Amino acid sequence: MDPFDSNSQTDRANLPRNMIENSMFEEEPDVVDLAKEPTAFPTFPGLDPDETTYEPRSSRLLVRGLGENDMDEDEEDTESSARLLGMSFMNRSSAQRPSSSPYARHSPPRCSRPSTRTMVVCVLFLVIVASMTMVLYFLPGCTFTKSGCSKPNKTAPLEPGYPVSTNGEPFPWAQYRLPRSICPLSYDLDLNPDLDDMTFTGRAVIGMSVLHNTKRIVLHSDNLNISKATFKLGNGEANDVTVLEYKPRKQIAIKFSDELKAGLFCVLTLDYSASLSHTYSGFYNSSYMDKNGRKRVLAATQFEPLSARKAFPCFDEPAFKATFLIKITRKQNYTALSNMPLAKVTQLPDGLMRDEFEKTSVNMSTYLAAFIVANVTPISKNVSGTLVSVYSVPEKKEHTDYALDAASKLLEFYNGFFQINYPLKKLDLIAIPDFLAGAMENWGLITFRETSLLVDKLSSPLEKQVVASVVAHELAHQWFGNLVTMSWWNDLWLNEGFATYMQYTSLQAVFPQLDIGNLFLAVRFRALDKDALNSSHAVSAEVNTPEQVEEMFDSVSYEKGASILLMLEAFLPGDQQFRKGIIQYLREFTGLNTNTDDLWNSLTQVGVSPQHLNVSEMMTSWTSQKGFPLVTVSRKGDQVTVTQEHFLLASDNTAHASSLWNIPVTYVNNSCSLAPECKQVFTLKTESGSFKQPESVKWLKLNYKNTGFYIVHYGDEGWDAIGQALSSNVSVLTQEDRASLVHNIFALSRLGRVSFGRVLNLLDYISKESETSPVTEALFQLNNILQLLDKRQEQHLVARVKKYIFRQFGSLMSEQTWEEEENVSKQELRSALLETACSLNEASCIQHAKALFKQYVESNGTSRIPGDLQQTVFNVAAQSDEDWVTMLTAYGQVTYNAEKRKMLRGLASTQDARRVVTLLQYSLKGEIIQSQELPLVINTVCKGFVGYLFAWDFIQEHWDSLIDKFAVGSFPIQAIVKSTTSQFSTQAHLDQVQRFFSGLKERGSQMRSVQEALETIRLNQRWMNENLPALRKLLEYS
Ligand SMILES: [Zn+2]
Repeated sequence: MDPFDSNSQTDRANLPRNMIENSMFEEEPDVVDLAKEPTAFPTFPGLDPDETTYEPRSSRLLVRGLGENDMDEDEEDTESSARLLGMSFMNRSSAQRPSSSPYARHSPPRCSRPSTRTMVVCVLFLVIVASMTMVLYFLPGCTFTKSGCSKPNKTAPLEPGYPVSTNGEPFPWAQYRLPRSICPLSYDLDLNPDLDDMTFTGRAVIGMSVLHNTKRIVLHSDNLNISKATFKLGNGEANDVTVLEYKPRKQIAIKFSDELKAGLFCVLTLDYSASLSHTYSGFYNSSYMDKNGRKRVLAATQFEPLSARKAFPCFDEPAFKATFLIKITRKQNYTALSNMPLAKVTQLPDGLMRDEFEKTSVNMSTYLAAFIVANVTPISKNVSGTLVSVYSVPEKKEHTDYALDAASKLLEFYNGFFQINYPLKKLDLIAIPDFLAGAMENWGLITFRETSLLVDKLSSPLEKQVVASVVAHELAHQWFGNLVTMSWWNDLWLNEGFATYMQYTSLQAVFPQLDIGNLFLAVRFRALDKDALNSSHAVSAEVNTPEQVEEMFDSVSYEKGASILLMLEAFLPGDQQFRKGIIQYLREFTGLNTNTDDLWNSLTQVGVSPQHLNVSEMMTSWTSQKGFPLVTVSRKGDQVTVTQEHFLLASDNTAHASSLWNIPVTYVNNSCSLAPECKQVFTLKTESGSFKQPESVKWLKLNYKNTGFYIVHYGDEGWDAIGQALSSNVSVLTQEDRASLVHNIFALSRLGRVSFGRVLNLLDYISKESETSPVTEALFQLNNILQLLDKRQEQHLVARVKKYIFRQFGSLMSEQTWEEEENVSKQELRSALLETACSLNEASCIQHAKALFKQYVESNGTSRIPGDLQQTVFNVAAQSDEDWVTMLTAYGQVTYNAEKRKMLRGLASTQDARRVVTLLQYSLKGEIIQSQELPLVINTVCKGFVGYLFAWDFIQEHWDSLIDKFAVGSFPIQAIVKSTTSQFSTQAHLDQVQRFFSGLKERGSQMRSVQEALETIRLNQRWMNENLPALRKLLEYS
């Protein structure tokens, strides 16, 4: 999935993420706390191998997660069960391997039969449990609490830890993860959506195999009204069964009086009805205005991560792969689409049509299933035996050519690159008018926001870059994610880090003219910024609640994941070694589920390194701990010493336990600094190490082209030497290296390791800089400081920083043109420069922008504003009363979405308080502005001085509506929390933010983004305290 707002790529890596480590809030237990829920129910009979019993709250971590109830890890049994049942979804390799990591990781749900040894242990265990239960049961009137049998309680007799079903019976499962005694093999789904009523009915026929003897089947179902359930064992009769439901965990269960025996096949048939969801997940309805202003409706799905259960009852965890056969009833004037090609169409007596799609030719995780009923039309092309189609609403068909071309070229590229052909006969890409994520990689039916797929004929290359990049990401998922899937959400990065890495590398190969390198570098900087916080988390992190699952969709899984893959790729000898390794990984695990160790082991095996490099040893240090290293370099004679420590932005200045990474430290020096051959490598595994460089070497630059995920401090002498070298000749380093120096020095200032004077020293050279990456990075950093000063009302300093910016970048700003520009890198450069210039009220910039807007309005939209300048122009126009109104009208009429979104940002950049509030309300209601745009509106509003306090009030007031639209912990919520809080820098605001979020309890208080928000405010506060006096002094003379 690409959860990002694809039109703000520089912002998108700037969104929050962290881990609740030193949780300030009391965490609720995952298991039922009997002391809290005194409802009476009897002991549930019949424990089977994945049974658990109640554990006191203090040890709840031992109960949580699926790994702990994994009572049988016997590889032989796993394999034999698999062969017996012809199943392929088990993770073979991880069971063969002892856990090498000191960091706890849950095993995936492995469906295996117990060994004799395990059975004996289980029986003994059960006997003990039963004896204890008996003893406790006969203790009169005793409530079992975490402190043991404490006080007598006549009304609450003994209970074993099972929650209560909706009908009052005990629900036979007490964990978040499903038991693995039953494995689904096939889903046969019959769906009848009614787009007038916004409801649907369905029948799910689920074929399953019994892997362990068990007396229950537990699966997921979320808000489905199940009207009938039948169960058939082997060749027996189908019988009605009672379905129990435990709503808090979205689980349903069927209990049996006799054990279902391992090895048997059974079928569960469930008839149900539900409402089409009004949010953006599950089977949801969506509406849009067609070109005639008529309201049209459609129904679409978004299942990742936890919403397939809203559309059909299922085993909704990624490791439960199965086949799908999907049938959908629709009206004649609608098209239905699903993962597979259409197999047959039947006309029903009531005039409706029933489309039956082919059964999936692959085993698929539930989150990848998809179906859509809409009024859409395709354009298609055959690519190496796969029919590639791009669908849109009919009036936007003319905007689909570019996506078809990009998808076709990228599909061919990936078929060759991975040496495994895309396995399905068709691949549809569809632009959905109202869609929250950037895109979703459903197998064979990839769904997109319109802005991520549609390109106007006159679109700028920068807009094409957005589309090609999202298409490249989603297509890469057809291998990384769909063909080989992470076993559990803790390793989401195996999907997302890879797809992100491939999105950039494939674009560099297939569309070099789109110049994606600058963007990839910028997102790596933003990933470092976020990972520097204490609230960050390991790439492969523990995930035990729905909120934690949602929160894995963050920059650590995506951008840090991609960054460490780039680091590995750059480190492995030869240019094909990394590729060989991933081909090996894909071949070995096709159709299966994996964890992080499987990837590293594949890469170690391939003989990728003549020196028998242990990839696993190196990379585990990057995936199993949060953060990244600060490498400090010092020189004495010909001796260069490098030391490492955790680059941790801590507001409290307390010492934290240090971590060690296995760092491929690369470096170049003044005698050879540009070509790849200049790069030398030193592997730093311990706290410090040293290598030799001739004394005659004037300076060293570490982390060549910033391919490593670390920050470098050169010490005063080192920074001086580099600064002087750059001042006399900018081209002594690559532009990536220059950008990396700019990024690193600001980061070190935030860490408190260098003074702001040192930052300005390095930036002395920047007036001679003209390349995109260093300029945009410097502007990004300076704009951040400007924003903080502005929000603190330090107007005097704001004026001085503005003056500084104009002095350093003024001549480059005035060199920029306002005509069409074809070069992507130049577009990026000028849009950053001019957007800054106009936002700082630079007269000539404002004048150009106003003139372009006037021309645009007077020509009735036929005169075009160059795509990369539209945002600057609209932002300027929105500051005038008259033009703001004109633009609001135009917003309702423009059909091309990329332009439309830029208008919306323009509108939201207004400094008129009433308009800010109006826009926030419109987008919350989803009428004039679709709710999918709410995070964008809030983000833009918060950049302005007028809007940011209104936005903070607004989210507090409407929090419940927000989490009704977007799940707690989801990417839009993370973005909203970050936008509204990241510019606070005072104790009063810190207290307010803390008070509000802690009061939310289960409605969001435990989100990592909240931890991050608090940490960020404290860091802002500290930075201000430490730097304001110096800043006043420095800028006075600058
Ligand atoms: Zn993705």
